[in-house]
Amino acid sequence: AVRTRFAPSPTGYLHLGGARTALFSWAFARHHKGTFILRIEDTDLERSTPEAVQAILDSMAWLDMQPDEGPFYQMQRMDRYREVVQDMLDQGKAYYCYSSTEEVEAMREKARAAGLKPRYDGTWRPETGKTLPSIPADRKPVVRFKNPQEGVTGWNDLVKGQISFDNSELDDLVIARPDGTPTYNFCVVVDDWDMKITHVLRGDDHVNNTPRQINILRALGATLPEYGHVPMILGPDGEKLSKRHGAVNVMEYDNDGYLPEAMVNYLARLGWSHGNDELFTREQLVEWFDTRNLTKSAAQWDPKKLNWVNAQYIKNSGDADLAARVAPRILKMNGDPQAVDLPAVMALLKDRAETLNQLAEGAMLFCGAYAPAAAELRTEHLDEPARALLSRFEEQAKALPEWTSESLDALIKALLAEHGVKMPKLAIPLRLAVTGQKQTPAIGAVLAILGRDLVLERLAAV
Ligand code: GLU
Repeated sequence: AVRTRFAPSPTGYLHLGGARTALFSWAFARHHKGTFILRIEDTDLERSTPEAVQAILDSMAWLDMQPDEGPFYQMQRMDRYREVVQDMLDQGKAYYCYSSTEEVEAMREKARAAGLKPRYDGTWRPETGKTLPSIPADRKPVVRFKNPQEGVTGWNDLVKGQISFDNSELDDLVIARPDGTPTYNFCVVVDDWDMKITHVLRGDDHVNNTPRQINILRALGATLPEYGHVPMILGPDGEKLSKRHGAVNVMEYDNDGYLPEAMVNYLARLGWSHGNDELFTREQLVEWFDTRNLTKSAAQWDPKKLNWVNAQYIKNSGDADLAARVAPRILKMNGDPQAVDLPAVMALLKDRAETLNQLAEGAMLFCGAYAPAAAELRTEHLDEPARALLSRFEEQAKALPEWTSESLDALIKALLAEHGVKMPKLAIPLRLAVTGQKQTPAIGAVLAILGRDLVLERLAAV
């Protein structure tokens, strides 16, 4: 059975690239009715924080990518890593190395000078017939993995195709530090092994770690997972996506009024495709997800397209659903979401909004405090003829048998015909009188939503 994992390091918020990798691992597991595991790689004590862990959990909950297993925390698995280090020492798959940091640096320098990759020279690597140096006093050893010295280590990458490294390029990796703590690549290996991971989808910044991880897994007798390395996301200028390009923290998109469904849809298309489909549901993503459709080239972040996708999701959302999502945003703007039939307002606004925040701003016309129009607007638009027209409207509006946007539109049309004037001559004064603003959505609909009592009350006060 398929088992995938998302293994973030909790050193800050969850960024878009991480969310996208998580999404691919999630979708792949779901597609194969497998298991999606969350593993928090928190061994970097200086950079890991509980807030960052929470931010990852929040972001994953927001995007509705709940793990089937986990979160597991590497810091809680230290005993297990030490146990495997000891096993490897016992089995001669790893060895103590007493070279000092300075000595190792000198070895690297020597390799560099010879035009080779900087490497540890194997001084303490035990070989049959080789005599090891005598152990220096007072020096705590590191533990190194006995990497194969010949041959190649390769894999058929799910995204990039065949990748191989000459083992001669890989030196003997430190798997435990002098104080016994395991190193990054080693923890990943033990976890992928213990958690029976079958498919590793991760950023291509990890390609160089993979041959090292494969060699250790082989030494442990583990079944190798398949690996797929996803190219990074670039900003619109072709540089690696970063803060300079705008928000990269997933939760900022929640704050800015993006729907998680739209975000998932958009993120999925960054580096993956299904024909020409731009809009698809989460279920379709799961149904269609196939690593063969992951792209080899880097994807480009396109805020305009994200806005378009978000607008489509808004347009296709139910009015009551939108109202429920927008209400808290109205409250934050000190508006009263209950002052109005909010679903009706959503119906009025949703075809032209790109974000939930824009919907909230639009709804403030009905949910915010009413402020009469500014004096200069009144002087300009509420002159004698305008007022005469408004009183005619008021009179007839009072008597309207039905208060709907259709009946109000019809009334407005009839008045324009009767007085031989064009729409703005009545619509602008009406808007100013009733909303205090010169521009609003369609006037008939606005009046219908405000309701007869409020409209008549404000007209009477002009
Ligand atoms: N913790 C690593 C990171 O945040 C991911 C490791 C992996 O996926 O193997 O980049």
